[in-house]
Amino acid sequence: MAATHSTRMLILGSGPAGLTAAIYGARAGLAPIVVQGIQPGGQLTITTDVENYPGFADVIQGPWLMEQMQKQAEHVGTRMEWDHIVAVDLSQRPFRMIGDSGNIYVGDTLVIATGAQAKWLNLPSEERLKGKGVSACATCDGFFYRGKKVIVIGGGNTAVEEALYMTNHSHDVTLIHRRDSLRAEKILQQRLFAHPNIKVLWNREIAEFIGEGTPEGLVAADLRDTTTGAIERIELDGAFVAIGHVPATELFKGKLEVDADGYIPVTPGTSRTSIPGVFACGDVMDKVYRQAVTAAGTGCMAALDAEKFLAEADYEAAPAAHEVEAA
Ligand code: FAD
Ligand code: NAP
Repeated sequence: MAATHSTRMLILGSGPAGLTAAIYGARAGLAPIVVQGIQPGGQLTITTDVENYPGFADVIQGPWLMEQMQKQAEHVGTRMEWDHIVAVDLSQRPFRMIGDSGNIYVGDTLVIATGAQAKWLNLPSEERLKGKGVSACATCDGFFYRGKKVIVIGGGNTAVEEALYMTNHSHDVTLIHRRDSLRAEKILQQRLFAHPNIKVLWNREIAEFIGEGTPEGLVAADLRDTTTGAIERIELDGAFVAIGHVPATELFKGKLEVDADGYIPVTPGTSRTSIPGVFACGDVMDKVYRQAVTAAGTGCMAALDAEKFLAEADYEAAPAAHEVEAA
């Protein structure tokens, strides 16, 4: 049976932004509910080594870090809901959302921390061969390519890390980048260039992935030279698309101001969105930094902004406890 969950602070997303907002919200007595979405723990759960989150002298693992954040949020009084929001009504307070489960979530304030999703090349052959040789997550699928030939597409931190990660499984890794320089951090570039099992093909993009067999599986890719337009075919077993992420804001289009790139704009120096009582934090509002630590930082800001909003709000708020009613 569907249930209605009410809270003073409803948080969508369980990445570093959402969980940090939850820690601060819970400690402020707001009994937050976090709706985790289809990727509990967010993007860091699909990576391995995290070397730049402050506080750890040793290299830590992304999934472990997110587990710790979740435990900390729960420990101070957050309730986690394993659900994915599919509809939102922001036209009046309290705000009302519907989950994939059919459950209803009602929040006096809403913190949007829905982060970002992997970008794809949008080729018909990519769509057809997803899960059949084409992937957007080396740490999830890399194991299937032990001893095989793989390519990684992209020139940012993710692509370089995915290429380095794939050397755990494969001796033949090629990074394909559309320009002649990478945008990845220098320290990652140095590791990439020094690795004997990685080669880089500059100024190339994927024209089409090539599949064969029944059921069809990836066997090659046609690469286009971005300077001459020439096409060359290379044989391969796996391709990892690592060309960045797009903010997860489909749900809010037409209901809340969203910019041309899909990000949620906030009043500078705050987490306030175009609707009073709705706050945004993390990658969903940040097209510049997009780091775990900045997501956590803006998550803190969102919780503090929501707390201030509630203190100043002129309407009867929900009690400071998680409320559940049968619908
Ligand atoms: P996300 O981590 O994207 O989390 C979004 C959350 O929203 C998820 O829990 C998802 O399930 C939820 N959600 C989405 N839609 C809905 C919905 N409709 N209803 C409910 N919930 C929803 N950063 C670093 O600082 N160091 C690193 O080493 C590093 N490595 C990375 C490696 C990879 C492979 C990738 C992809 C990113 C890496 N980053 C790294 C970047 C970092 O992961 C992000 O900046 C950070 O996770 C953003 O946090 P977030 O909370 O804003 O969003
Ligand atoms: P990104 O920095 O946006 O890089 C995307 C890369 O893909 C760029 O090199 C871009 O090429 C290329 N690209 C984009 N669209 C393409 C297309 N259609 N065809 C071919 N190539 C395309 O994305 P990211 O690497 O996923 O990183 C996202 C954020 O997470 C960044 O802020 C990054 O710092 C952070 N992150 C941090 C770490 C870390 O700290 N260790 C690890 C991973 C990610 P151009 O260069 O030509 O634009």
